[in-house]
Amino acid sequence: MASGEADINRCPPGGAAGIVRLAAISGREVQPLDPGRGSEGPRMLAVIDEAWCIGCTLCIKACPVDCIIGASKLMHTVVDAQCTGCELCVPACPVDCISLVPVTPGRSGWQAWSSEQADAAQQRYLARTLRLSRERRENDERLAAKAATKLSDLASHSRLTDPEVLAAKRAVIEAAMARARQKRTAD
Ligand code: SF4
Ligand code: SF4
Repeated sequence: MASGEADINRCPPGGAAGIVRLAAISGREVQPLDPGRGSEGPRMLAVIDEAWCIGCTLCIKACPVDCIIGASKLMHTVVDAQCTGCELCVPACPVDCISLVPVTPGRSGWQAWSSEQADAAQQRYLARTLRLSRERRENDERLAAKAATKLSDLASHSRLTDPEVLAAKRAVIEAAMARARQKRTAD
């Protein structure tokens, strides 16, 4: 939308009220919701059927606001007050034990969702994005340190004397280190 590539009527969760808000901030015309993107309805809540949950943690990885609690091989559960009803956890579950239930009957769009709830969800999303980026960076740094150690081991290894083999291995490790450095800069 910001770059003008998408229209302002493609957000069923925001509904008609959301389109009016988007029209106000974008200066575009108010228009009906695009039916090809879904229909406006009550806000949903994800519910895990704990009897079937196998504790695979895939739903935790899929949830953009970090509102699913659980650990590997243990039952998982949704923190109701933090769930936005985005549905992203549903296809992630390999045993189909997540369902969505309406929690705001008769209310949809911005009538089913307060500004405080939206702000809290955005904060949770941003915190998650930062955490994932930090974890990726730390992992890249660990791998780069490992590669550097390997490179220095290689240089001093007495058994590997073939210069071509050494050069090939060094090139692979240096390329991995360069990729890690590039990722760190991009983050
Ligand atoms: S519906 Fe969305 S916000 Fe709710 S638990 Fe599933 S992924 Fe998280
Ligand atoms: S994806 Fe399904 S089975 Fe896996 S932890 Fe989540 S709810 Fe349980």
